Amino acid sequence: MREECGVVGVVKQDANSHPVPAALQIYYALYALQHRGQESSGISVHNGREPRAFKGMGLVPEVFNKDDLVELKGNVGIGHVRYSTSGDSKIENCQPFIVTYKSGTVAIAHNGNLVNGMDLRNGLEAEGHVFVANSDTEVIAHLLVKELLKHEPPEAMRNVMKVLNGSYSLVIMIDDLLMAVRDPYGFKPLCIGEIESGYAVASESVAIDTLNGSLIRDVKPGELIIFRDGEIESHQLFNEPCCAHCVFEYVYFARPDSIIDGQLVYRVRERIGEHLSREHPVDADMVSPVPDSGITSAIGYSRESHIDYEESLMKNRYIGRTFILPGQAMRETAVRLKMNTIDENIKGKSVVLVDDSIVRGTTSRRIIDMVRKAGANAVHARIGSPPIIAPCYLGIDMSSRDELIAAHKTVSGVEAVINADSLGYLSIDGLVSAIGLDRDDLCLGCLTGAYPVDIPGEQTCQRRQLKLHEFE
Ligand code: AMP
Repeated sequence: MREECGVVGVVKQDANSHPVPAALQIYYALYALQHRGQESSGISVHNGREPRAFKGMGLVPEVFNKDDLVELKGNVGIGHVRYSTSGDSKIENCQPFIVTYKSGTVAIAHNGNLVNGMDLRNGLEAEGHVFVANSDTEVIAHLLVKELLKHEPPEAMRNVMKVLNGSYSLVIMIDDLLMAVRDPYGFKPLCIGEIESGYAVASESVAIDTLNGSLIRDVKPGELIIFRDGEIESHQLFNEPCCAHCVFEYVYFARPDSIIDGQLVYRVRERIGEHLSREHPVDADMVSPVPDSGITSAIGYSRESHIDYEESLMKNRYIGRTFILPGQAMRETAVRLKMNTIDENIKGKSVVLVDDSIVRGTTSRRIIDMVRKAGANAVHARIGSPPIIAPCYLGIDMSSRDELIAAHKTVSGVEAVINADSLGYLSIDGLVSAIGLDRDDLCLGCLTGAYPVDIPGEQTCQRRQLKLHEFE
C-alpha cells in the first residue's frame, strides 16, 4: 500500500501560560498539511495519565468539531492526515496508530512507505502478533513495543530502524514523551520549530508557520529527536554517506511556501520554470499554468522567456467529493466543474501550458483539448519534471509501470497522445540544478528506474553503491 501523508507533533511545557491546547494546535497544523492527505485525519494526545484519540474519514474540518477537540486534553499530542491509493480506505487504517502494552501506550503517525513492510509483518504474525489494520505503521508500532520492553527509547528506535527498509518520517508518543524520527536517507521531509510555550514537529514548515512558530531546522536523516523537559535531545542513530530526498516533493507534492531541507519550494519551482524555458524555448503569445500545480513554474518560464504570463484556466477550489452521475455528458460537466477555460484570454493565441508532471497523461490530454476548444492557435506543453518512467515504492502515489505513459512512449509518442503542438520535459540535470542539492542526495527512482535502496526486481543506483563503498 502506498501512502502520501502529513504528520505533526506538539509539546507544550507550560500549558497554563498559553491558552491554546495542544489538540487545537495540532488541528490547525493538520489544516496546513491538508494537501498531503485528504482521506482521513486523526489526533492523539496524552494528559500524563492516559491517551485520548479521535480519528475519522474525510478532510480535517469534516472529522473534527469543537466538542471533539475540547475532549482531547493534554500538553502533548500527535496528528496525521492520510491519503492512500489502494482500496484500503477504512477507519482501521486511520492514524495515529495506538498500541497499548505492558508499560504504557505508543502512538505513531507515519509518512512514507516500507519496502519490506509485508515481510516484517509476516515475521511478527509468525511470532503471534495480531494486526487490526494493514498499514506499515502498525508494523513499526509492534516492532517498537517489542524493543521498548528491553531498551530505552533511543536504543529501541535504533534496533527498529535496523530492520526497516524504505521511507519513514515518524512522530511518536511513548506515553507523554514526544519523539520524531527520519529514515537514514531522509526520503520524506520532517522539520522542527519553536512555538509559544513549546515545540512542534511537522512534515512541512508551513504547519509551524500556521502556529505562529519559527522553523528551527529539519530533522536530519537518521536522527531521532526527543522532546524532554523543555529541551530538544538529538540522537544521530544512523549516518549514511548520502541522503535520498524525494524530488517529487519539490516538483509537486509539497506546498510552495514550505522550506524543505533548506530549500524554499517556491524558489525551486521558479527555477524549474527558468530551466524549462532555456531547455525548451518556443515562440508563443502567452505562458499559462495548469492550476495550481503549474503556477510557480509558469512564472519562472515567463520571466526567463519574456513571454507574458496570463491565466487561461481557472480551478474550482471547492469541488471536494462532488456527486457525479455516470455517462459522457456528466463526465464533461465534472471536468468543467473542476477546471474552466477563460476563453477571451485564449482565443487566437499560441499558448505555452506549464504543468508540474505527466503521470498517466489523461489530465494533460483533457486540459489541452479544453484550451484548443477555447480557441487557441497552438498549445505547447512544458512539463516541470523529467518523464516519469518508473513507479515510486517510497511513498508517492505514482501508479504501476503499466499506467505510466512515459514508461512506454517516447516524448513524441506522449506529445501525440496528449495532442500538444510541442512537448518539452525538464531534463534530470535541469531538475537537480533547480533543486540546488547534490544529485547523490536525491531520490530519482521514478525518473531513472534506479533506487537508493534495494527493491526486489528493480535496479539499485550504481553511483550510490560506489559512494557507499568509498565510505566503508
Ligand atoms: P495524469 O497525467 O493524468 O496522471 O495527471 C498528472 C497530474 O496529476 C500532474 O500534473 C499533477 O498535478 C497531478 N499529480 C502528479 N502526481 C500526483 C500524485 N502522486 N498524486 C496526486 N496527483 C498527482
